[in-house]
Amino acid sequence: MSAGVQSAVSLESRFARELPELAVPWRAEDFPDARLVVLNEHLAAELGLDAELLRAGDGVRFLTGAALPPGATPVAQGYAGHQFGAYSPRLGDGRALLLGEVVDVAGRVRDIHLKGSGPTPFTRAGDGLAAIGPMLREYVVSEAMHALGVPTTRSLAVVATGQTVYRETALPGALLVRVASSHLRVGSFQYAAATGDAELVGRLVDFAVARHYPHLLEAENRALALFEAVRSAQAQLVAQWMLLGFVHGVMNTDNMTISGETIDYGPCAFLDGFDPAAAYSSIDVGRRYAYGNQPAIAGWNLARFAETLLPAFHENRDEAIALAQEALDAFGTQYSAAWSEGFRAKIGLREGVDEAVTGPLIGDLVALMQGSRVDGTSFFRRLADAARGVPEGARGMFIDLAGFDAWLERWKQLAPDPDAMDAVNPVYIPRNHLVEEALAAATDGDLAPLGRLWEAVTDPYTQRPGFERYAEPAPEDFGAYRTFCGT
Ligand code: AMP
Ligand code: MG
Repeated sequence: MSAGVQSAVSLESRFARELPELAVPWRAEDFPDARLVVLNEHLAAELGLDAELLRAGDGVRFLTGAALPPGATPVAQGYAGHQFGAYSPRLGDGRALLLGEVVDVAGRVRDIHLKGSGPTPFTRAGDGLAAIGPMLREYVVSEAMHALGVPTTRSLAVVATGQTVYRETALPGALLVRVASSHLRVGSFQYAAATGDAELVGRLVDFAVARHYPHLLEAENRALALFEAVRSAQAQLVAQWMLLGFVHGVMNTDNMTISGETIDYGPCAFLDGFDPAAAYSSIDVGRRYAYGNQPAIAGWNLARFAETLLPAFHENRDEAIALAQEALDAFGTQYSAAWSEGFRAKIGLREGVDEAVTGPLIGDLVALMQGSRVDGTSFFRRLADAARGVPEGARGMFIDLAGFDAWLERWKQLAPDPDAMDAVNPVYIPRNHLVEEALAAATDGDLAPLGRLWEAVTDPYTQRPGFERYAEPAPEDFGAYRTFCGT
């Protein structure tokens, strides 16, 4: 490898060293024809990586895990998980690797992880590979989420492997270089707990607390403090999803992080019309992960997390269950508070407006939006215009116009602030039809639409000329229930 990358990058092996029971040392498949497709230069700079070094010489070999700094110990991580409610004791990185950790320019520890890097000892079915479309989907949607202010794993690069992968058709293969504050999941704890080794679970708790919640290292009951911190982080996270109309699509326990970052952009989608039953994934036949179910599912996943920690909560099982139940009960309250607070901001009302007024006002608006299948993203920006005295755009979105007009009158009494609304309501989100269009073009070798979409969604709150079509809902003929699935 080039001296440049080798001396510039220092990869630590904290996870591999401290939790060897959850890590299988492994190497990425060799992709001699690998070629960089997209590089996130902003993120590279955050990580202290020189974009020019990554583009040149052995940079791409570093990004595919073929040429690593001396001492690096890439590992496939072990984890279990409930998938659509059914427990799998051994999932793990079946097509992914943790290359190691870097300390970024702000001093934070960040995982460098590959997805689509070839089979591992955890591969069950599947080829260990990924197609370029889904990797670019994660690249653009995760970075859009970050720009929207939602905690998320990040995307450093997508590299074409030069291989063909076979799905319904033959497709160009690619891998994603993912960056995360860690890849610890609820499923990591399920995997550790299933060994019956309390010392291992304790070490995992210590690792998670040190990494994500170091202020809790002094807590009297460290495992319980960790659980409460994850619960709070997830309550905030899912409230943000709901306020943006984001449907994750595959909220299995192995796809719920301990950090509170959104992870695994597979069959995710954004609502076009407000509908709690909206589910986009073809594999989610029971609509378990429909938009409106997400808070309840997060609570369900947290209950599975609590189960892994019961022996660490208290030596007496009944006492442990009581502690878990109490901690879990706070999830609903925290979620509702975060959601109401966020919704109040979306409609431009100042903090401190009486909850007895805002509660029913918000509830009535949600019912009206649902009744008319209103596209929330367009609506909230138009509602700011209504606060500026131009209500026509917002009014045009409702079938029950009299109902909405009555609502507008009540709302205007509270003197909403349109500029505050525009600061929290995005103009540009990665709408499904735009993502599909960009990925189809990229799969055929044309990266221009993806670049344009990227420009729109990585600066989502600033309306700009030339990006009009990126602010529009899907055309009628796009179809309400297409599947945005794919691996
Ligand atoms: P996901 O639904 O993407 O979170 O993946 C769930 C599990 O399936 C993980 O253990 C993945 O590693 C594994 N998996 C998904 N796709 C593939 C693939 N193409 N080859 C091997 N394993 C895969
Ligand atoms: Mg996953």
